[in-house]
Amino acid sequence: MAKLKVALYWAASCGGCDIGFLEIGEKLLKLIEVADVVFWPVAMDVKYKDVEAMPDRSIDVCIFNGAIRSSEQEHLAKILREKSKVMIAYGACAYGGGIPGLANMYNREMIMERAYLETPSTINPGKIMPQTSYQSPEGELTLPKLFDTVKTLSQTVKVEYIIPGCPPEERTTWMALEALIEGKLPPVGTVITDNIKAVCDDCPRKRDVKKVKKFYRTYEIISDPEICLLEQGIICAGIATRGGCGSPCPQANMPCTGCYGPVNDVIDQGAHFMNAVASVIDSNEPEEIEKILEDVRDPAGTFYRYNLPDSILRRARV
Ligand code: SF4
Repeated sequence: MAKLKVALYWAASCGGCDIGFLEIGEKLLKLIEVADVVFWPVAMDVKYKDVEAMPDRSIDVCIFNGAIRSSEQEHLAKILREKSKVMIAYGACAYGGGIPGLANMYNREMIMERAYLETPSTINPGKIMPQTSYQSPEGELTLPKLFDTVKTLSQTVKVEYIIPGCPPEERTTWMALEALIEGKLPPVGTVITDNIKAVCDDCPRKRDVKKVKKFYRTYEIISDPEICLLEQGIICAGIATRGGCGSPCPQANMPCTGCYGPVNDVIDQGAHFMNAVASVIDSNEPEEIEKILEDVRDPAGTFYRYNLPDSILRRARV
């Protein structure tokens, strides 16, 4: 039987998804018994022209991590889409834009100025900025164009499946690979996890009707290990986040930050999350509510940490 062909690509992400993929450990040996990895720039020496030369739909599955924020990433997403029968958005950045998606709070010029002129560690008296094209004596040198707006993978090309997480876990990665190997892929559009409910449904912490007068950052309070973090004033995204991870963060005394994306039928995870936080505020007085909310230091980064490009707002107007 012909071996399956698998491609992996890394766009705008931290690299954690590629490491997350390796978490399947010895199951990699099982994978390579039945599949050839034909493209994986982070792990093997391949050139873009190699993938461009492949026949259309000759790759069985492309596991694509990272958001789309440059012309190079968009080009590769489109090429890999043409060459692949199945495209999987792997991880929070491909799925919702992820941490790179928070760049949508700014525009391209603001980001370039910050990175190349303003950071305390930058010494650039000539104010030299990256150019997309430079004519050197040896010939033209080019760089990809950085886009003004970060996009998700599915805002760029058609995507069949999503494997959520920052990074995805071994369990869900293997669940998808096993389904591919056995020819039992779920219906198109499935978010591959083993739980369709919220993280709160997997979390052993007790919830009651406690209301909060103050929000805390994790280092500001010693929390009760038995009680729901949100009800102790620690902003936890469990109620607004798809389950399947097994709630490791709240079990380790850290709040869920939302990396599995929205629960089923929710369009805007951040709005859902804000609604949950608003519901525990113990006041009906606008001034007091405003004062309580001052404790939320980074609202965009808290409520839209992984999904600003995929939200209803998509980006800030700047
Ligand atoms: Fe657990 Fe967080 Fe949900 Fe509370 S809000 S039950 S701590 S996941």
